[in-house]
Amino acid sequence: MKRIIFTILCFLLVTFAFGQTSKIIEPFDQCGYRTGVNEMESLYPGYKQQIDKVLQTAKEEGKLHRGGEVYKVKVVVHVVWKQAKENLDDSIILNQMEILNQDFRRLNPDADNVRDIYNDIVGDAEIEFELDRIIRVQTTKTFKPTAVSITAVDNVKKTSKGGSDAIDPDHYLNIWVVNIQPITLGSLTLGYILGYAYPPADLPNWPAGNSAPEPALDGVVIDYRFFGNNNPNTLPAPYNTLFISEGRTPVHEVGHYLGLRHIWADKSDPLTGAPNCNGEDDGADDTPFCGSNAQLEGCDPTKNTCNKNQPGDLPDMWENYMDYSREECQVAFTNDQIAIMRGVLEGPRATLLETATGITNVQLQKQVLVFPNPSNGTIVVKAKEAPNTIEIYDMLGKLVYTNHAPTTNNQITLDVAKGVYLVKSTYNEGIATSSIVVE
Ligand SMILES: [Zn+2]
Repeated sequence: MKRIIFTILCFLLVTFAFGQTSKIIEPFDQCGYRTGVNEMESLYPGYKQQIDKVLQTAKEEGKLHRGGEVYKVKVVVHVVWKQAKENLDDSIILNQMEILNQDFRRLNPDADNVRDIYNDIVGDAEIEFELDRIIRVQTTKTFKPTAVSITAVDNVKKTSKGGSDAIDPDHYLNIWVVNIQPITLGSLTLGYILGYAYPPADLPNWPAGNSAPEPALDGVVIDYRFFGNNNPNTLPAPYNTLFISEGRTPVHEVGHYLGLRHIWADKSDPLTGAPNCNGEDDGADDTPFCGSNAQLEGCDPTKNTCNKNQPGDLPDMWENYMDYSREECQVAFTNDQIAIMRGVLEGPRATLLETATGITNVQLQKQVLVFPNPSNGTIVVKAKEAPNTIEIYDMLGKLVYTNHAPTTNNQITLDVAKGVYLVKSTYNEGIATSSIVVE
């Protein structure tokens, strides 16, 4: 606690030294990972040790298998908004999904910007993301972190607290997009958190009552100004010229969600940002060892915080999605980072792949017929075998119809507005979907 108070006092001194509140106070954690992990460790001692263990196991497993199969993860995006500008247009959400798919397949248009010295260590993660639905919730609440806690922002994941409950976190990556309020002290802005995610902790093996965080809090939270690269919203000046969204904040946070740590392992001095070249690494063997992040530094080819001039030492890799460099600098994951993420998808987050496999089940898709299309709202869902459930959603992800005991031949009359709807038939083996038009 003494250290925290000292840190806050120093923030204040720095601010007053500049004589105005609009100066950037450096450093602040633009990602809430370190704050969240430290907070969980204080609530549940042993948490850090557990997530490191999961990372190590995932790395070993991922290295043994080394790719070959494309993993597909289904995504639910929750847009929790108070002001109209926070209710992001579908086009921004689809744009962000495309960026995730480009970056995790190394199909990003700027992939070649990686310096030649890293050509051998960067790769295609062979992970793809499929948008399952968008859930929009208008709220009266605000979600505000402190310098040492993100618990209040986690309320965005709870309907009872003005947020939106997670959809089946075992089978879906839930992403909440919300206005994350600045970290302040009185009227002073200390900084902004652009996003955060909890790493996998392999919770089922934990003793009862010790699950940190609870499964309903699993997923990724992104500030509404850092979703997509076609987003008109920005931070206020002077932050707006330094933090420009290229859609890499969600890529970084999904990296954490799949087990990755920051490339400098959060070793730098939390007060001054000074590099620390001692101590632990990020757990990925091929990321160059470095002692601080590249926040506010641009893409500086001379940056090399640790082991300078020693044989074989590489400069700091600000091209890496797990740095804090400007988003335009971030273009790659390394092969060992990829091994960790794939190991996580084969281990503690393996259930994420189950529904994704189901949705692409071509056999199931052929077994369900929905007609007529277009219709006046009365349709027939005919199936070779009766599904477990039939659900119909509108294009905003709102459930408009459910049948928990369908037969092989179901006539359904929808009392809905004109538009496009998604019919979802769920089987044990997976899901079949059809789009229908109501005229
Ligand atoms: Zn981070």
